[in-house]
Amino acid sequence: MVSAKDGIGMTSRRTRERMIERLRAQGISHQGVLEAMAKVPRHVFVDEALASRAYEDTALPIGFGQTISQPYIVARLTELAIGQRRPQKVLEVGTGSGYQTAILAQLAGTVYTVERIEALQKKARFRLYDLKIYNVKYEHSDGGWGWPKYAPYDAIVVTAAAAEIPDPLLKQLAPGGVLVIPVGQGPGQVLKRIIRAEAGYEVEAMEQVKFVPLLGGLG
Ligand code: SAH
Repeated sequence: MVSAKDGIGMTSRRTRERMIERLRAQGISHQGVLEAMAKVPRHVFVDEALASRAYEDTALPIGFGQTISQPYIVARLTELAIGQRRPQKVLEVGTGSGYQTAILAQLAGTVYTVERIEALQKKARFRLYDLKIYNVKYEHSDGGWGWPKYAPYDAIVVTAAAAEIPDPLLKQLAPGGVLVIPVGQGPGQVLKRIIRAEAGYEVEAMEQVKFVPLLGGLG
């Protein structure tokens, strides 16, 4: 992958390195995740006016009332979903800017990403194409239903908060597969990790988070 649109050049590389140092300090230890985040230029995923803030540890608006998740959250979701393996198939619900998609694509065989707002997904698709990231399939639909066509998935990452864990996502997990999803739509959202074990689903509450809501239907 080439940072073709890396117009900010060295400055952005240095800023990106500082972001990696901060992620380490925040407890992200997965080497593959840190490397992926060092490699993918985050500033091309936000509007030019916000590019100088792209490496701050903050969520930023991407239009349509949505946000690009803060770097720590992207790193955390990814390390929880990937673990110490290279999953063949990863489903992402909520393409948004495509930044998390780009990170997942560095660490998985193929990323299947679903977004309900078509215009956002189109932009994301162009950005990834410009970055020469080709191992991604895009679908404009309500990701609460997953993407049955390519199931089962080794990992599923949901980047919007669900009121409850959607059943189709559980069903589309491969044996041993991992689902990472923020749950709860008021204050007090919790990031959950669900593993599809032989004996059933193992659910673990990880930490408090704050995501935009997972909405039904198309945008
Ligand atoms: N990972 C993205 C996060 C974007 S915010 C990024 O860092 O840019 C969450 C995204 O989930 C939004 O783009 C929103 O439109 C999308 N979303 C919400 N509900 C959805 C649903 N049911 N199906 C698909 N996408 C959904």
